[in-house]
Amino acid sequence: MKPQVVVVGSVNLDTTFEVAQLPAGGETVLATALRTAVGGKGANQAAASARQGVATALIAGVGDDAAGRFLLDALSATGVDVSACRVVTGTPSGQAFITVDRAGANTIVVAAGANAALSADDIVMGGARVVLSQLEIADEAVRAALTAGRAAGAFTILNPAPARRFDPALLALCDLVVPNEHEAAALTGAADARQAAAALAASAGEAAVIVTCGARGAVGWHGRGSFDVAPFPVEAVDTVAAGDAFCGVLAAAIAEGLPLDEAARRASAAGAHATTVRGALASLPIRSEVEALLDRPG
Ligand code: ADP
Repeated sequence: MKPQVVVVGSVNLDTTFEVAQLPAGGETVLATALRTAVGGKGANQAAASARQGVATALIAGVGDDAAGRFLLDALSATGVDVSACRVVTGTPSGQAFITVDRAGANTIVVAAGANAALSADDIVMGGARVVLSQLEIADEAVRAALTAGRAAGAFTILNPAPARRFDPALLALCDLVVPNEHEAAALTGAADARQAAAALAASAGEAAVIVTCGARGAVGWHGRGSFDVAPFPVEAVDTVAAGDAFCGVLAAAIAEGLPLDEAARRASAAGAHATTVRGALASLPIRSEVEALLDRPG
């Protein structure tokens, strides 16, 4: 099946050690539990889109190692087309080592591994309707993704996360930019999400902007002015991957032809759902879970 959404981004093996107390420098502590899972913003966002029943492909780099095979199998099992992923020989798969204590405080070490090897040559665009990328890969790969998306007539979305310096020229290649409020503030210097959305739109040429604001929902900006994206009140237990659920479902809804404000409402429901389940991939909703929140009497 031809992908309607193409995600160009990262994939990591996340290894989480639960500990009573985070170790100090030079200290060794025993973990109380150990988990491995699929992570990386590219992988999460592709899975969120695929779980809506929208044909979704991921373009990412993995190593020629056990972690790489595990990652591709797990993503495939969740419905993501991984046939355009590149297996990079001689480089390990991207990995994150996370230690988390009883209070939820954590330390994270990330090795980009094969994610850093993804290059413009790896980007092959079919007739996708939407192209979505993030900043866990090199600017050159993001640029190639957005440029190829534009050339193929696709709608291009950048989630400028995590917050890092990047080539501002990338913004001019976007139809939509979706930062969270911290990233938006870092990019524009405006602490207020609505002002940041307007400022970012001004520096991104014609792009629309949606700034996500956690439990407060999101604020959008398009050529006709600003709009609010209402939150779906839920019992949040773990906010990991809320932004990824939001971006992936937003891309899927836009590929299905929904107008931006309706697509953002779906995305907001998906982000809310993701906070009610622990973990990243495990917390990304399927379509009926998004619809259950949308249909809930408000
Ligand atoms: P990130 O994970 O990138 O920091 P946010 O925290 O802004 O992103 O979350 C993305 C979206 O998920 C929000 O815009 C909102 O729609 C939804 N969301 C996040 N946290 C909650 C929450 N506690 N309750 C309801 N919805 C939430």
